[in-house]
Amino acid sequence: MYDTLIIGSGPAGLSAAVYAKRAQLSAVVVEKDYMGTGQIAESERVDNYLGLYGESGFDLGEKFRQHAVSLGVEFYEGEAVKIVPSENAYNIVFSDNKVLETRTIIYAAGANPRKLEIKGEADFLGKGVSYCAVCDGSFYKNKIVAVIGGGDTALQDAVLLSKIAKTVYIIHRRGEFRANKALQKTVRNIENIKPVYSAIPVEIVGGKNVNSIRIMHNDCEELLAVDGAFVAIGTTPNSRILKGIVELDGNNYVLAGEDGTTSARGIFAAGDVRTKQLRQVVTAVSDGANCVQSVEKYIAKTNG
Ligand SMILES: Cc1cc2nc3c(=O)[nH]c(=O)nc-3n(C[C@H](O)[C@H](O)[C@H](O)COP(=O)(O)OP(=O)(O)OC[C@H]3O[C@@H](n4cnc5c(N)ncnc54)[C@H](O)[C@@H]3O)c2cc1C
Repeated sequence: MYDTLIIGSGPAGLSAAVYAKRAQLSAVVVEKDYMGTGQIAESERVDNYLGLYGESGFDLGEKFRQHAVSLGVEFYEGEAVKIVPSENAYNIVFSDNKVLETRTIIYAAGANPRKLEIKGEADFLGKGVSYCAVCDGSFYKNKIVAVIGGGDTALQDAVLLSKIAKTVYIIHRRGEFRANKALQKTVRNIENIKPVYSAIPVEIVGGKNVNSIRIMHNDCEELLAVDGAFVAIGTTPNSRILKGIVELDGNNYVLAGEDGTTSARGIFAAGDVRTKQLRQVVTAVSDGANCVQSVEKYIAKTNG
C-alpha cells in the first residue's frame, strides 16, 4: 500500500511527486497518456513561469518530468477509472482492471478547455488559436484578435486583450452576453472591443498562422480578418471518478482550498481540477507542494 497515489502527471502531479519523494513518502504517479506532462505540452511558448521562460510548453513539461525521474519517482501508466473507499485506504481501479491500494490520493487530473470542434481549430493551435488569454495575450500587441464566447471568462479575456491588441472582437452566438452585468458594462465602455452578436464560428482560416475566422453571422457567411482567436467557451474538469465520493461545485470542480483538503478523508486536490481563481502552471505547482504537506499531516494524525 502506498502512502499517496498521485493521479495525473501534469505540473500539479509532478510537483506533488517531487515533494512526496523528498518527504520520504512511498508514492506513485499514475498517468493515462504515455509520458504525459499535462496540458502545458500543448503550449507553443510559455512566458509567465518564473525563471523558466521563453520555451515551449512541451520542453517545460519535460523538465518537470525529468526532475521527478531524477529523484527516482515511481510512475504507473494507466487510466484510473474508479476509486473504491475501504477502511482507512482507497483502491484505485484502472481501465485494464489493475488495482493499486493507497492511504491517500492527490488528485491532479486537470481540466480541459472546451473546443469549438471546427475546421482549422486543431491545425492552428499555437499558431493563432489559444485557449488562454492570460498565457498568450502578450503575443498579440497591436494586432486584431477575436474572443469566442459570451460568459464571464470570455468578457474578462476581452478586457485583458483590449489593453494589448488593437481590436478585440467578441464573437457570441446569442443576441446578448451571458456574463454578469457589471462586466458587460465595462466591455461596452472599452472602445476597441467590438461585439459580434448572433455569430457562429465555422472555420479558422490561415496560411502559416491564423488570418481570419469564417463565421455565420445572422445566417450569412462572413470572413472576419484576425491574427488570433481566443476560445473561451468553458472548461471541463476531469472529476468524473470523484462523483459521489468528493464534493464538487456546480461546474464539477473539486471543492478544495490551498491546502488541497476535500470533503473526503485522505483525498486532496491539486491544480486545475480544484476550485480556484487562476488556472496556471504556477498555481498548479504550488498546489502539488501544499497537498503533500496535507498528506504528511493526515498520515501523522491517522497514525495516532
Ligand atoms: C494551449 C494551452 C496553453 C497554456 N499556456 C499556459 C502558459 O503559457 N502558462 C501557464 O502558466 N499556463 C498555461 N496553460 C495552463 C496550464 O497548462 C494548466 O494550468 C496546467 O497544466 C494545470 O496543471 P494540472 O497538473 O492541474 O493539470 P493538467 O496539466 O491538465 O494535467 C492533468 C494530467 O492528468 C492526467 N489524467 C487525467 N485524468 C486521468 C485519469 N483518470 N487517470 C490517469 N491520468 C489522468 C491527464 O492525462 C494529464 O496529463 C495553458 C493551457 C493550455 C491548454
